[in-house]
Amino acid sequence: MRYVLVLNCGSSSIKYRLVEVPSLETAAGGIVERVSDHAEGMRKVLAELEAAGPDLERVAVVGHRVVHGGTRYADPVVIDDAVERRIEELSPMAPLHNPVNLIGVRAAREVFPSVPHVAVFDTAFHQTMPPEAYTYAIPREWTAGGVRRYGFHGTSHAYVSRRAAEFLDRPYPEVNSIVLHLGNGASASAVEGGRCVDTSMGLTPLEGLVMGTRSGDVDPALAAFLARTRGLSVEEVDHALNHESGLLALCGHNDLREIWPLVDAGDPAAALAMEVYTRRARKYVGAYYAVLGRLDVLVFTAGVGENDPRTRAMILTGLENLGIVLDPEANTSPSRAPRVISAAGSPVTVLVVPTDEEREIAGQALAVTGLG
Ligand code: AMP
Repeated sequence: MRYVLVLNCGSSSIKYRLVEVPSLETAAGGIVERVSDHAEGMRKVLAELEAAGPDLERVAVVGHRVVHGGTRYADPVVIDDAVERRIEELSPMAPLHNPVNLIGVRAAREVFPSVPHVAVFDTAFHQTMPPEAYTYAIPREWTAGGVRRYGFHGTSHAYVSRRAAEFLDRPYPEVNSIVLHLGNGASASAVEGGRCVDTSMGLTPLEGLVMGTRSGDVDPALAAFLARTRGLSVEEVDHALNHESGLLALCGHNDLREIWPLVDAGDPAAALAMEVYTRRARKYVGAYYAVLGRLDVLVFTAGVGENDPRTRAMILTGLENLGIVLDPEANTSPSRAPRVISAAGSPVTVLVVPTDEEREIAGQALAVTGLG
């Protein structure tokens, strides 16, 4: 038995999963939290894995989630010192993520010096977007400096859109889909025959859908307005839009499991929060339908998308004339498997497909190293 070790190194946590080759089934996994020293955190990961039993001598490749790959990386890449430098050079684009991703890469390369390490980028899947999708209408010198739409959650959008085609037994290159990745972070993508042609997150993960604590789309003049009228700094506005906005700002909670009971108890702020949240998602469905011209499949995934039938139904309300017809019974089935939730005869098939970024990272790491 050989393994892929998948590492997702965040600012204060390291998520890990040991994946069996070639089945990609999980052999062990977990999360080390409250990490302040990532080398120390990596030692904890190793200790937990060793306690779980598997022989770590059999790790054949290590796959790392790296958030920002810029325009350079449309595919996963085997990490060497030059790749490490480029991940570092991209840090201004993802200051909360790339530096800690890199610390994880360096710590893991020390622990596993003799196996290949592969970076799988959150931005990579979206690199197929055409210029008209990724270009902002802003001064050219900014664009020349790399200001454009990149998109994130790419590993999830790639995995889920491909799994949707497999599930329907249709060739991936022939299927047009919209993926709604609705977790604490949330994004939508339009995927035409396996290629991403538009996505809702932009230069940073702030743009697009209403999220747990992120505003999603707002008037870009907001920062200047708040600076003028309240004396807020750019950093204060940035922090508030990323961490104190979204559902949390609208109703005091960012977890849907806490919001629905408030809606049912007649809390007007919670009711409005869900209206704002679902209307934004519905608008992106309409926009991406228009971008694709023909829509075969609409897929829900991630924490909210997989588990919350009420939110799914609310997002798709009134879209019957677009050929999107939900089956209320299928929508509320407690199944955890990939499943159809649209009505028989609905022109667009609506699916729930659980995402699995670790499995996708493992598969990509094996493919790029030829070790699969
Ligand atoms: P994620 O970022 O994909 O882990 O998603 C986390 C979010 O999913 C939580 O903040 C909740 O809003 C939502 N969520 C998770 N489980 C459920 C559930 N059983 N019902 C409704 N929402 C859920």
